[in-house]
Amino acid sequence: MANDDPSMTRNSGGAQALAARIVAGDRRALARAVTLVESTRPDHRSEAAALMEALRGADREALRIGLSGTPGVGKSSFIETFGLMLIGQGLRVAVLAVDPSSARSGGSILGDKTRMERLSRERNAFIRPSPSATHLGGVARRTREAVALCEAAGFDVVLIETVGVGQSETMVAQMCDLFVLLLAPAGGDELQGVKRGIMEMADLILVNKADGDLASAASRTVADYSGALRLLRKRPQDPEGFPKAMAVSALEEKGLDTAWNEMTALAGWRRDNGWWARTRAGQAAHWFGEAVREGLLARLRDPALADEMARLREAVAAGEISVEMAAEHVLKRLGV
Ligand code: GDP
Repeated sequence: MANDDPSMTRNSGGAQALAARIVAGDRRALARAVTLVESTRPDHRSEAAALMEALRGADREALRIGLSGTPGVGKSSFIETFGLMLIGQGLRVAVLAVDPSSARSGGSILGDKTRMERLSRERNAFIRPSPSATHLGGVARRTREAVALCEAAGFDVVLIETVGVGQSETMVAQMCDLFVLLLAPAGGDELQGVKRGIMEMADLILVNKADGDLASAASRTVADYSGALRLLRKRPQDPEGFPKAMAVSALEEKGLDTAWNEMTALAGWRRDNGWWARTRAGQAAHWFGEAVREGLLARLRDPALADEMARLREAVAAGEISVEMAAEHVLKRLGV
């Protein structure tokens, strides 16, 4: 696919040119840029860094929403109808998937091509499945950079979807403004099934499938979680009434507008009270540290250094050099 050749910054006169096309709303440029940031090749990494720096001046902000939920809870159905509703209101919506299962096994829970078919046909929607990175760190970096690309491209809402298994939620929470947890209606014992850590991250719990036979179970689940949320969390960045649980139906498109009103109300409150800027600044600092760590790890994979590491590993194992001195050698080579 020629469109997906990540080397395009060279072909089109550098990062500045690509940045200008992204800011102008060129979707192909955006798609290629996302492909570029997914690459781990050192030359692509340098191009990606130049691109991100060039886009910094775009000074655009989207509402970044993390959305988590176990498979089958209705994430793609919700994102599709919710996304279409937002597009109907004149907003532009990007959806990025984070699927740690694709990193581990090569198989993806979120990668199904038929997901969100109607939304994917919309001109004002941009959907990217999870990249097949080899480790979560790579997925994190790519996703964070892709979020920034979508933001610079003028999307109003960026939804970052993940599968509700723990590790990836923590990562997504570090790159979004709001965190939404999608649940299905269930009996009271289900409360235990959601990882406490994920519950603690949630700003809004949406109990989906509140329709037909499931409607009354959904109301009970909302009540259960409302109670649990009150006990679980009260942070200064939570206004009165948040975190909050409510019922929705992606299928019957019920409660979606109320959910959106809650999200914008919370985002607005956080903006007015300084939490928005403070959170984003903290997130940037966090990702800076991660980027340095990632970069160092990438340098360790350099073939010449890997050979030396192998030699030193043997020497350490044979007792010919101390662990500390061997590590010193490697760190010196890295210039650390
Ligand atoms: P995902 O794995 O979380 O992305 O879940 P899907 O969106 O693929 O939905 C899983 C199943 O739940 C599908 O059979 C959907 O039709 C169904 N589903 C999704 N949303 C609703 C809803 O609001 N009400 C009902 N009754 N079923 C739903």
